[in-house]
Amino acid sequence: MIGDFEIKDEDLAARIGVLETKHGKLETPSFFPVVNPLRNDISIKELNSIGFYNFITNAYILKKNNLLNGNIHNKFEENNIIMTDSGAYQILEYGEISQENKDIVSYQVEIKPDIGVFLDVPTGNTDDWNEAKKSVELTLERGREIIEVIRENQDIIWTHPIQGGPFLDLIEYSSKQASKIPEFKMLALGSPTVFMEKYRYSKLIEMIYTAKSNVSRGIPFHLFGGGVPHLIPFAVALGVDTFDSASYILFARDNRYLTRERTYRLEELDYFPCSCPVCSRYTPKELAEMKSGERSKLLAIHNLWKIREEMNAVKQAIREGRLFEYIQQKAYSHPALYNAFKSILKYSRYLEKYDPRVKGSVKGVLLFNSDSIDRPEILRHVEFMKVFVPKKRNALVICGDKLNSPFILDPKVKSILSKNRGTDVFVALPFYGLIPVSTSESFPMSQFEMPEEVDKLTLEKTVSFIQSFLKDKNYEEIKFIECEKSVLSHVMSINTALG
Ligand SMILES: [Zn+2]
Repeated sequence: MIGDFEIKDEDLAARIGVLETKHGKLETPSFFPVVNPLRNDISIKELNSIGFYNFITNAYILKKNNLLNGNIHNKFEENNIIMTDSGAYQILEYGEISQENKDIVSYQVEIKPDIGVFLDVPTGNTDDWNEAKKSVELTLERGREIIEVIRENQDIIWTHPIQGGPFLDLIEYSSKQASKIPEFKMLALGSPTVFMEKYRYSKLIEMIYTAKSNVSRGIPFHLFGGGVPHLIPFAVALGVDTFDSASYILFARDNRYLTRERTYRLEELDYFPCSCPVCSRYTPKELAEMKSGERSKLLAIHNLWKIREEMNAVKQAIREGRLFEYIQQKAYSHPALYNAFKSILKYSRYLEKYDPRVKGSVKGVLLFNSDSIDRPEILRHVEFMKVFVPKKRNALVICGDKLNSPFILDPKVKSILSKNRGTDVFVALPFYGLIPVSTSESFPMSQFEMPEEVDKLTLEKTVSFIQSFLKDKNYEEIKFIECEKSVLSHVMSINTALG
């Protein structure tokens, strides 16, 4: 049925999904390039040749300029999935527009896009809570006033924008209210562009999390204006399914060149770090010497290739169960992205909740530094140890740096086990804290890679896990083996502390 959304794969709170539309199945996460009907910068055929068979255009511009009557698919290439925006962003940019919500909606009914949006009221980046609240209420009211139209036109997937701007309480309210209306098969977070432009990525992460954690997991979720490749994986990790943006062309007109990590100005580049059809054909100098129209078109094509590449890399990371490692790596390309990453870690419980316990092709977890402690697999292990019930009255801790995993099969551990039958035996290990030898074969307790030198914060956190575990479980006697030379030699001081 149109609007059905099937989740195929999950990692963190991200998913690969399939959205059923009138013009076929859309695999998500997916990016909708913005096509301005007044400018023929990049044709739909060109978009298709880069791999985009879906795009978004503006119903308000089409209507106002009388550019289209009848089915939108006849104007553009027919095999594309088309989303139309309502012009709400034009309100934000240029003040009140003269179109009424109902007009814009009936116009969309007439032109029949696959995905439609009613005329919401963007909050923008105001610091006036009352004003923001007004935009939320008005948006909800406009959503309610078209419910009848939606019921009669269910071949269009109608999207309900969520407003509230920087006010998280309003985003929460807006999300809850919008997701109560079953007629809307898609939700979207409105007006985040201002936060992206100002590098306020932490705020943006908070906004996305607040919206996502207050809507149903099963509904596809769009981020308006999410157009720079380096931010896409962070939004996807929180559960954003679709994006749209005009940045590829707006940046190109301004001689800005996207990479998957950052944005360059064309004149900063002596070499193109890319092998797309544009970059393999021209040098930065050649591009710089072209006429501006020609140059911006080529830059736009390159920018789209980068966005496509990023979408694919993110999907591959989800499929492999490596999205955490992927965003961790991404975080080190810019301090603002590190902020985004750290903000996401504040929601590690939320990520853990949706992160599948069994993952596709993942062979083991890659642990780097104290940030890795917040990954779902380690959080889950720490939780598991909290509820661990001692089987014996005494405990024995072997420091595990030199042991082979799975620990239960290591000859040294085997020999220690045979001599200590009346004891609970644990292996102490950075990141994990303690691993009961009896469970050491299960994932991911023997499937990990960690650096030889573990950073101090990780060691301190590990020792603190171990300390609180041993205190909580009230063992009568605790013995430590092989801990003097361990990276965890701090545990010796636990030994002393516990007498
Ligand atoms: Zn390129």
